[in-house]
Amino acid sequence: MDFSEGQMFRDTIKILEEAANVINCDPNVLERMKRPKRAIIVSIPVRMDDYRVKVFSGYRVQHSSTLGPYKGGIRYHQDVSLSEVAALATLMTFKCSLLNLPLGGGKGGVRVDPTQLSRTEKQNLTRRFTSELGTAIGPDVDIPAPDMGTDPQTMAWIMDTYSQEVGFAQPGVVTGKPVEIGGSLGRAGATGLGVVFTTEKALETQKKKIEGTTMVIQGFGNVGQHAALYAHQRGAKVLAVSDVTGGIVDMKGLNVPDVIKYVSEHKVLKGYPKAEPISNEELLTLPCEILAPCAMENVITGENAGKIQAKFVIEGANGPCTVEGSKILHERDIVACPDILANGGGVIVSYFEWVQGLQHYFWTEDEVNAKMKLIITSAFDKVWELKTEKKIDMRTAAMGQAVRRLERAMLLRGLYPR
Ligand code: NAD
Repeated sequence: MDFSEGQMFRDTIKILEEAANVINCDPNVLERMKRPKRAIIVSIPVRMDDYRVKVFSGYRVQHSSTLGPYKGGIRYHQDVSLSEVAALATLMTFKCSLLNLPLGGGKGGVRVDPTQLSRTEKQNLTRRFTSELGTAIGPDVDIPAPDMGTDPQTMAWIMDTYSQEVGFAQPGVVTGKPVEIGGSLGRAGATGLGVVFTTEKALETQKKKIEGTTMVIQGFGNVGQHAALYAHQRGAKVLAVSDVTGGIVDMKGLNVPDVIKYVSEHKVLKGYPKAEPISNEELLTLPCEILAPCAMENVITGENAGKIQAKFVIEGANGPCTVEGSKILHERDIVACPDILANGGGVIVSYFEWVQGLQHYFWTEDEVNAKMKLIITSAFDKVWELKTEKKIDMRTAAMGQAVRRLERAMLLRGLYPR
């Protein structure tokens, strides 16, 4: 098993190397940035409802703690691999660095199809995974959060299991918890709201407004639904959305709250009666102003990037554009706001949740959203400045700014032993 088995890890390193070159990063520092510090692989035996025991593979990759404790989500998906988790952990390091947070980068995952698990099986899996990770996670060490296939309930089980094992309540071990046990107001919708703040900033660069703009969103889970809702509330027309069962389209604009209600009742978009069906592939190439891929990685590639009709691509998901896909978008003057910027709202509010928990003092939702907006929009400005100065694409510029901050910190801390 090697980190570089998967395309996403190889792409992440390519982007890192390009950005390091642009900002003249110290080559010794770059060598260290290219490798995660630690990878943990565990076997998770789970008692299933029919009393059989199934064993799942779980991963936690800790990329860098130079700037603070490792921070990053835990994903449950049947395609999870060590390489994918390593790529996502690496991206987290640079996301936290770009957003100026005192946090490093980590990521976890379990190779399982969560839709095939009952609630009890999912709880058993989560508790045993937490127990196997042991002291590798903790409020000062490594702080997981939700990602694909996991949610606030999953975080509550992790928090409870960890707390039972250490002997007292430790809400700081995870973020994205339910508000009742120390979660932050605004966390559930934070990533989607950050996608919308980034969209507004991107539109502003061309003196455009979100009101009246057209938007297409792939993925209708936590990120996609909130992005759709906040954009709709600001007067954008959401033309199409999709999930793993396919998409729906209405070129006059979907009634987003009604679509969300349908999904909360039926779990999936399939069968939504008030719009036309559309495939995920067709959805990506619909004519629109904004395309927000908010589902999974590697969906905009060398194959389809030439057919995209949007003027802006806002990456709600992690790694939705391959390196080749991104290059084509840039050549076609499509502004692509990269994941480490556009979906940063989630980790920013996770950071707020951690801070509020440590202080035992909680903020209002308006305070949370206003503080998040300040961080994500100033990161956007920093990225735009480097993009304009060096005439590079947004992804390289975002990575360049992230590498700059981490490079300074690594040089100041030095190498132990020297
Ligand atoms: P989620 O599990 O809540 O939703 C995922 C959505 O994608 C679902 O609607 C699912 O049906 C859809 N999907 C899955 N496979 C698909 C396919 N092949 N084609 C089309 N749609 C498909 O997950 P989420 O939390 O919304 O995360 C989505 C993405 O955003 C991931 O890349 C995740 O890493 C990233 N992200 C999430 C957060 C967060 O706070 N939740 C923060 C930053 C980044």
